[in-house]
Amino acid sequence: MFVYTAQPARVVFGTGSLGLLAEEVERIGRSRVLVVAGERHRERVEGVLGELAVGAFGGAVMHTPVEVTEQALAVLRDAGADCVVAVGGGSTTGLAKALAVRTGVDQVIVPTTYSGSEVTPVLGETADGVKTTRTSPDILPETVIYDVDLTRSLPHDVTVTSAVNALAHAVEALYSPQANPVVDLLALDAVRRLAAGLRGSGDREQLLQGAWLAGTCLGSVGMALHHKLCHTLGGSFDLPHAPTHTVVLPHAMAYNVAAAPEAMRRIAEALDVEDAPRGVFDLVTTAGGPTSLRELGLAEADLDRAAELAVGTPYPNPAELTRDGLRALLGRAWAGERP
Ligand code: NAD
Repeated sequence: MFVYTAQPARVVFGTGSLGLLAEEVERIGRSRVLVVAGERHRERVEGVLGELAVGAFGGAVMHTPVEVTEQALAVLRDAGADCVVAVGGGSTTGLAKALAVRTGVDQVIVPTTYSGSEVTPVLGETADGVKTTRTSPDILPETVIYDVDLTRSLPHDVTVTSAVNALAHAVEALYSPQANPVVDLLALDAVRRLAAGLRGSGDREQLLQGAWLAGTCLGSVGMALHHKLCHTLGGSFDLPHAPTHTVVLPHAMAYNVAAAPEAMRRIAEALDVEDAPRGVFDLVTTAGGPTSLRELGLAEADLDRAAELAVGTPYPNPAELTRDGLRALLGRAWAGERP
């Protein structure tokens, strides 16, 4: 048995699609836009929006701290905005979601990385150093505009780590307890596109389509060990989001390889490799991505506590989660061993 719920969102995909922004805002009946974007994109976005833009905020940072959301909320209220247009990575999208869930404003998101957050009803926020996650239909953006041109300025290292962040959504969707035929198709196509993009010196269109499909998987089914471990490492040890995903993914897959053989077989086939965890590790190495938690700044002395934290809250995962098993996994990821 399975249950499949499609998330209602409008997606506009293409090169140069940012030009449709004003039309898309008007289409959802909004006329007063708060632009959430960094310096790189702000002027261009305001130019496209013309008089629809009534305010701007450029201070989004990773993990959506509530203090930053409060500042943006004041700007939104002063401007009398009825809509947020966010142009940037997962950090910028997170701020738009935090504003929407507090005020009910609509969101038009223009993602410039491959995080996939724009198609999920999930918001992670940080208050007093603790990151919590909530899910609500009010968090899901109304419209997503994917413009391949905006991803061309992404530096190579961000391109690689962000694409592997997306790959992780697709991988864990395939062994999720909520897995279903629609999500399986999306996930396998995402794996193929992301791998092709990573191998072909970053074919931007493949990567962005893969990211959308993988994000849709993340928004549809529950994730497992890999995402929980990365959440712990990011939240409690302040490790960077996408690089952490890049290092941990092959090791989390190796932990689950015997317990999810069919999912691993399908991933290996989509990657065109013999062994799925090793195939992902090799993909990262060839693309020049990070392979060890050590190089991301985690101290070896923190591995015991990380294993404790990760085993503390139980969650569904194909292989049984044990403290010793997770400590061994983290040790290999810390050292950067090939699984
Ligand atoms: P990010 O948004 O912080 O961006 C990474 C880096 O890339 C930043 O330095 C940013 O300035 C730069 N950048 C972005 N677009 C660029 C461009 N076009 N050109 C040049 N540089 C550019 O990182 P991210 O990995 O996209 O997002 C991470 C955040 O998103 C985390 O807080 C994470 O928790 C959240 N997230 C949430 C979900 C969800 O469903 N709720 C899913 C994935 C990630």
